[in-house]
Order: sequence, then C-alpha cells, then structure tokens
Amino acid sequence: MRAPGGPRLLLRRLREVMAEPVTAQARLDRIVVLIASNMVAEVCSLYVVRADAAMELFATEGLNREAVHLTTMRPGEGLVGLIVSSAEPLALSDAQHHPAFSYRPETGEEIYQSFLGVPVLRGGATIGVLVVQNRARRAYSEEELEALQTTAMLLAEMIASGELQGIAAQGAPIAVRRQMSLKGVGIADGLGLGHVVMHQPRVTVSTIVADDVESELIRLETAISAMRASVDDLIDRNDDGVGGEHRDVLEAFRMIAHDRGWLRRLREAVSSGLTAEAAVERVHNDARAKLQRQTDPYLRDRLHDLTDIANRLLHQLAGQSLVLLPDELPENAILVARSMSPAALLDYDRARLRGLVLEEAGASSHIAIVARALGVPAVSDIANISEIVEHGDAIIVDGDAGEIHLRPPADVEAAYAEKARMRARRQAQYRALRETPTATVDGVPIGLHMNAGLLVDMPHLAETGAQSIGLFRTELQFMLAARFPRPGAQQQLYRAILDAAGERLVTFRTLDIGGDKLLPYMKGVDEQNPALGWRALRIGLDRPALLRMQFRALIRAAAGRDLKIMAPMVSTVDEYRVARSMFDHELNWSRSRGHELPRTSSLGVMVEVPSLLWQLDEITTAADFLSVGSNDLMQYLYAVDRQNRRVANRFDPLSVGFLRALRSIAQAGKRHGKPVTLCGEMGGQTLEAMALMAIGYRELSMSPTSIGPVKAMTLSLNIGEAEREVEAMLVKGREDASLRAPIQRLAERLEVRL
Ligand code: PEP
Ligand code: MG
Repeated sequence: MRAPGGPRLLLRRLREVMAEPVTAQARLDRIVVLIASNMVAEVCSLYVVRADAAMELFATEGLNREAVHLTTMRPGEGLVGLIVSSAEPLALSDAQHHPAFSYRPETGEEIYQSFLGVPVLRGGATIGVLVVQNRARRAYSEEELEALQTTAMLLAEMIASGELQGIAAQGAPIAVRRQMSLKGVGIADGLGLGHVVMHQPRVTVSTIVADDVESELIRLETAISAMRASVDDLIDRNDDGVGGEHRDVLEAFRMIAHDRGWLRRLREAVSSGLTAEAAVERVHNDARAKLQRQTDPYLRDRLHDLTDIANRLLHQLAGQSLVLLPDELPENAILVARSMSPAALLDYDRARLRGLVLEEAGASSHIAIVARALGVPAVSDIANISEIVEHGDAIIVDGDAGEIHLRPPADVEAAYAEKARMRARRQAQYRALRETPTATVDGVPIGLHMNAGLLVDMPHLAETGAQSIGLFRTELQFMLAARFPRPGAQQQLYRAILDAAGERLVTFRTLDIGGDKLLPYMKGVDEQNPALGWRALRIGLDRPALLRMQFRALIRAAAGRDLKIMAPMVSTVDEYRVARSMFDHELNWSRSRGHELPRTSSLGVMVEVPSLLWQLDEITTAADFLSVGSNDLMQYLYAVDRQNRRVANRFDPLSVGFLRALRSIAQAGKRHGKPVTLCGEMGGQTLEAMALMAIGYRELSMSPTSIGPVKAMTLSLNIGEAEREVEAMLVKGREDASLRAPIQRLAERLEVRL
C-alpha cells in the first residue's frame, strides 16, 4: 500500500509543524496525527524512554488519549521494550501473537494486528520509540519504514532538546536528560563546575528532506571528495588530526572514507529524498545499532572511527570548522572531546576553561601534561561521553576522584560548589604563605622548587613562591611539536624560560625521550621493553649531534646568567663523564667564537637508575649535583611499570627498602658536600615529603599545586623529632614493608599539618 502523498509530503508537513509556535504536547499530538494519516494507519504513538528506563506514552493518535502520560511500560516490556533493547525497527503483521506482546487494557490496543515500530536514536542510545498500528493484517513497505525512521530523527532532536521534559508524567526525568555520574581516570587534579562545550561541535541536522535529489547527490559527492582529500592530506603531512588523532586512526578513517558499502548506503539514502546531512545521520544510526551489539572490541573500536568520519562529513557539508574556534569558547566551559591534541588545548582561553573530559587521553598522555600545566581539572577514559552529552549540559569534573557528574541534581551541585569554595579558600591560605620563608618548626630551612616543562607553567613560579625550577622537562617542547625543534627554536624557548624565571634558577634536564615519551616524528624503534630501552641520555650519547645541539642552545640562551643542566637516566659514572666532556666542549666552542658564556654553569645527574646506588661516592664526586628521579627509581628498583595501572601501586614508596635507598643518596650528597634534590612525584605528597625530610632531604621539586600543601606541612614539622623516629623505623633487621601507617601516626603525634 502506498502512503497518500508519500513520505516526502509527510516530511514537508512535519517540517511545518516543527516550526509552529505551539506547546510541546500540541506539537507531538499533531505529529502523530500527521503520520497516522500519511501512512494510512489507525494508530500512531510515541513512547519516550525515561531515566528509570520505563517507557512512557507521550502522544497517540488512535489509542485511548487518556492513556497518554499514564501508560508506562517497564524496561524490556512489550514490543516497545524489544525495540528499545535491540535499537532496531520491528514490523509485524500479527503483533498480538508475538511472544513479547503486552496487553494494556487502558490503551484499547487489542484490536490492532499490524505493528511497525522504530527506535528514536540519539548518540547511539534509544531514547524513544515511534509506532504505527493497523487493525487489519498488512505488510509495511520499505518506503514507509524509512519515512517513520526519518520522522524519528526529527523527534530525536525534540527529545534531546529537553523540550519534552516539562510535559512528562509527574516530571519524571526522561532518559536523554538524565543525570549521570561516570567514573574515568583523573589526569589533572582539581574540581570544575560549568557547562558542556564540544571541542568538535556536533552538526545538528535540521533539514531532513531534500528539495532536489540530483543537486543533493552532487553535494554529497563533493563533500566526500573534500573529506577524503583532507584525511589524505593529514596522513601525507604525517600530522596529527585536529582532534589529536594519530596516524593509525587516520588510516582507519581513510579506509572508511573509501568503503564502497558505506558510500552506496549514503547515496541510496539521498536518492530516497533525504538531504545529504540527514543521509549521513541515518546511515550512521543504522551502522551504530549493528556495531553496538558487537562484543568484539576491534569492531566496537571501528564504531568510533565511523562516528568520527560521519562527523567529518557532516562538518564538510555544513561548511563548519571541525573544531570549535578558540575565541568561541563561552565562560565556565567544560570541554568535552573524544581526544584532543595538546596544541588544541593550549589554543583555548584558560580564563574561560573550567575543565576537560575526554574519551581517551592517548597512550603517552601529552594532553594530561598540558592540562596539569594549565591547571585545568581533567578526566579521561569516559566511554562515549562526546555522544552522551548535549551542548550546554551542566557538568562537574572531579579530577581528584576521576569522576564526572552530568546534569547533576541540585544537592550534588551544591556539595561540589562548597568543595570548590573550600579549595579556593585553602589555596588562598597557601598563597598567603607565598612570601613566608620555608623552614621547619625547629628552624631548618627547606628548599621547595617547582617542576615545569612549558612556557605556560612559568606564571606558577610567582604564584606559588617556589624557590626555583628544580626540573624543567625539555622534552615536552619536542613532544608537542610536529617536527624536530630546530636549534633556534630550542634556544628561543630556553631564553623565554630564563626570562620568565628572572632571578630564580632553572634546572634544565636534557632530552628525556624514549620509553613512554615518544616523539611522533621520530621513527619508532621497535623495542620489547621500551622502559629498559634506547632512551634519554642513551640516545644523546649515541647521537651526539643531538645532545650537543641542545647543550649549545642552552649555553647560548643562558649567556650572562646561571646555567644548570642535568642528565636523565645516567647508569654509570662514565656516561656522566662523556656527557660532561661534550658539555665542556660546547662551552669551549662558544668561548672560541666569542659568544658570551653563562655566568656559572653546572651539570648534574639524575639518580633514577638503581645501578648508581652502588656508585654513589663516585658519581657524587664527579657530578656537580644530584637530583633523584623517584618515579623511575621506584619503577626500576621494584620492577613495576609506572604506566601499568595493574602494578603501579603494588609497592609503596614509603617502604623500608625504598626509603633506605633514598637515604643513602642524601647521605652521599652530605659526605661530599654536593647538593641533592628529589624531583619525582613523591616529593609533592605531604606525608612522603615529611618522610623525605626525615631521612635527610632538604630540597624538593614538585608540581606547582603541591608547593602550598608541602610548605604548610613543613612549617608545622619538627624535623629533629621526625628524623629520630623515622630513623628508628629503618634500623637493621626490619623487613621491607610499607611504613605509611607508622609515619602517618607519627605525623599525627607531632601535629604535622598534612
Ligand atoms: C622521575 O623519574 O622521577 C622524574 C622526575 O622524571 P620523569 O617523571 O620525567 O621521568
Ligand atoms: Mg625519570
């Protein structure tokens, strides 16, 4: 049976109804009447999925009107429930005898034999069901099914906009607007309250019906070619995509963009009368419904790629930029993205940014480094978040707990607002300590220094009152760049850092790449154990031109100033000597050319490879200073991959063995009169910092956010007593075990402010 006027007429009428200035209920009522009459059906009903997973009847033509907002189906109940769970259309000519049929006397449904229902899909979830029914047995045509699916697309927009919330039964929240708390991984500490802003804004498909099929097909083909060219271009340039996608993801995009089946389905959808945009959405919804049921993780990953490519095509069609323009960022923005490149995050105005939520941060997590440097609370590994949220949704990012709260209820929002206020108050207290000299209660001065790696870190130096930059990770510039930074660019950055530091010293660490810190443009060396592989100083020694170039850039940048450099991953004294002679050679070279030299220069060693623990006297004699990289030292001493969440926290740095190792380094420094600093993460934790001071550390370098709390702790610490007590815990005969609990008790007894 052919519908009178056909689907095109229906869609045109629907467009008119959508534009009418009527209430949401009146609009729904007109829509169901229109569909029923166009499809020659006696019944047309819309069910909307609620937050409690029940399906509420929102409008009907043909069934008993009194049942609207009264009839609800339990999750999974009836044919409607079947459509919700399968996310697929269902056509039956004998609905009454289907095993899932559920009889609801109040609707008067029992007389209808034929049933056609389609899911209303949004972001991969079924948020409603649209149904037509006929008294007589009949088969629904493909054309009718498509018309109903297209109408469902329109309704999806209406439901997602929140417009229908006001008419729901007793205000029961509808699923698409429901509140959600989702657990991910905190990648940058802090709390952020604000509203969702999509890094890659979704294109809203508002025109569903094409005026002219031929010209629409041409639009589609043009957009596909342009999109293919842009993906090819990214691959050829060997660049990351604007979203921060890496090469293998881009390769997957290219495959899909040339996939014949996909292109055929798009063309067919346009030929059926849809606009190119609506066709992309329809084909994507279908593919998504199929892929989502896959349990194979590989196929599910392809869904991500498919979503991205559909999104690219939609942007191409709409002539919109794929990512938000940085100056379009509203106030109190919480950016949501599947992934993002560090450069993209740096482009946004920090003053408007309250947080960041990502589906994936990427293996090396450069985005985390930048988020931390900017002080933007960030959570990653929230599956599907870019599809779940709507632009403007209220959202809370809890970077400490690694959680987000989407559309939080008032009490949760109030609790977090209070937490954020407390935090701000505490930070104000720490700021007030900024000028206070750092010394313990018993008068021992302690040096608190800051770790940095980007120019955007530098304002923290003055904000925190840190004494110096104790670790400047020079590799970050290399990791964020699209190609190897030239000597001029290196020199420029180092000079800018020294300028920003003013009177304060900066300890530059030479390139620490390899292992987990990969340069996208450096051809990967395939290694079984990258952490034990060709990395850091080892690369510098094997590729002397590279290390010399960096030394030279540092020497030139520090002309007339103090220059402090340290080498990472030194394993033997000889390695240090070779590096030292290269450095001296560069100093001589600069001198011979008549360049102004640094006022003073020193070259230190990072103690992070355990082999140095048995060469402490020799290395301490040779080097100008030591800096303990406790992150790597712990990794190598206990054989636990610091990146592997399964084992990373298996052993406690506050354990007998590790503290003894750390103590021996501090003692060697004392014996030889050489400065010893510790610059790993443990120095930034208050309890750990207290323990470190108790075993002889007087200089700690840490992330900027830790300086306030560690300073407050130091100002309340009686170091003499702590030394005696912790020393007693490390006596001979004590088995290696965590000392966290006794050290915590000690802190309480000494009334240390943790
Ligand atoms: C360390 O290993 O402790 C350290 C400070 O360096 P990174 O974390 O950069 O390896
Ligand atoms: Mg290290």
